[in-house]
Amino acid sequence: MLHSLSIGELADHLAERKISSVELTRHFLARIERFDPSLNAMITLTAEQALAAAAAADARRAAGERGPLLGIPLIHKDIFCTDGVRTSCGSRMLDNFVAPYDATVVARLKSAGAVMLGKANMDEFAMGSSNETSFYGPVKNPWDTTRVPGGSSGGSAAAAAARLAAFSTGTDTGGSIRQPAALTGVTGVKPTYGRVSRYGMIAFASSLDQAGVFAGSAADAALVLEAMAGFDPNDSTSVDVPVPAYAAGLNAPLKGLKIGLLREFFDGLEARNAALIEAALDVYLSLGAETVEVSLPSLPLSVPTYYVVAPAECSSNLSRFDGVRFGHRCADPKDLLDLYRRSRGEGFGAEVKRRIMTGTYVLSAGYFDAYYLQAQKVRRLITDEFRTAFTRVDLLLGPTTPTPAFAIGAKIDDPVTMYLNDIYTIGANLAGLPALSLPCGFVDGLPMGLQLIGPHFAEERLLNAAHQYQQATDWHRHGPRGFE
Ligand code: GLN
Repeated sequence: MLHSLSIGELADHLAERKISSVELTRHFLARIERFDPSLNAMITLTAEQALAAAAAADARRAAGERGPLLGIPLIHKDIFCTDGVRTSCGSRMLDNFVAPYDATVVARLKSAGAVMLGKANMDEFAMGSSNETSFYGPVKNPWDTTRVPGGSSGGSAAAAAARLAAFSTGTDTGGSIRQPAALTGVTGVKPTYGRVSRYGMIAFASSLDQAGVFAGSAADAALVLEAMAGFDPNDSTSVDVPVPAYAAGLNAPLKGLKIGLLREFFDGLEARNAALIEAALDVYLSLGAETVEVSLPSLPLSVPTYYVVAPAECSSNLSRFDGVRFGHRCADPKDLLDLYRRSRGEGFGAEVKRRIMTGTYVLSAGYFDAYYLQAQKVRRLITDEFRTAFTRVDLLLGPTTPTPAFAIGAKIDDPVTMYLNDIYTIGANLAGLPALSLPCGFVDGLPMGLQLIGPHFAEERLLNAAHQYQQATDWHRHGPRGFE
């Protein structure tokens, strides 16, 4: 079936004129229509624009243009501004917001000829680990629709897993690409901080946010990342480092690759999860890799550190939603203060309010030194410990999540338990490191993820290592039943 083909295979079909982009787009739109009612992965469908973009891609191809993404359908997380299309960020606050310009990620994929089918559901302002905080309702995991797909990019992950598009975009502030990728059995890549432009990506925690990709394989993700990445003068934190040809580096042999095993990741790891990670490690050993034990003593502090830094930045970033300039405005305000209070009170959901209050608290006079400054110091320690580890190893290997997908409703009333879902992913965000998650087996019939973390700008190495694993195993080829 068309939807189970890789991006490379679809591109070949398009190049050989076996199919047109319009036909391919229709195929995926029909899948969305058929399957999305059971998943709630989409917030906005842009069928008409998609068919027009597909026709334009077909015309570009007919005129002799080539390109791996030309005419390939995708879904964007609804955190990316899309010119003329509602960009809600999963919030009532932006339910009526039509973006006046494209995010750089959107513009780059557009110019590569990729065809946007619509915008994916997500946790409100990307705050969450289960996709239950969205104003548009929870997303369901295609492997078991009573379970969460993970968050905050849960709609993008569910869409990639159910093959509602050939790939999707996401953002990762503390794990929101890797965690849902793991829980839905797809490959998810969070690049180095600064590798992909944040321009037009609605800000949650600016020093941590990074855009990335969900795809069926590392090879597909490599093609997409190549098109997304690169310097952007519109983002002052985007880094001017040339983008390697990721797809060309996928087949480098792994002989002699030094894989670091983080003691802190394996202490207390649930036995069935540990068995999957060890089996994955055996695959790497058989490919010629070597293992080195490493320890990052400050890593266990990453969750508390993150839950000071991220709320602090969000409380500042979300101050722009005031009911005056854009987004939700309350009816009949008495005065300016009433306008602010009620617009924000009505526009934001409970988790967003919790973060804004926590962030305001840790930044307030008297608490700033004790919380925010202290968290920044610990963040520095964690970053330094990662740097030291990478003088001894080429990459780090471990689990992506502590457990497989949990039931909808199971953790939503207990924020601390919810926050601990990100225990293995947050470190890479605090240190700005690239990391990816790829499927490595099942626990109770639900997919689990293997996480690889690399030094800054080592995306090529991570994708190469992930691709070699996927050449030797077929976990990434398993899909959820009922979505064939
Ligand atoms: N789950 C984390 C949070 O709720 C991370 C979210 C993200 O990466 N956007 O903040």
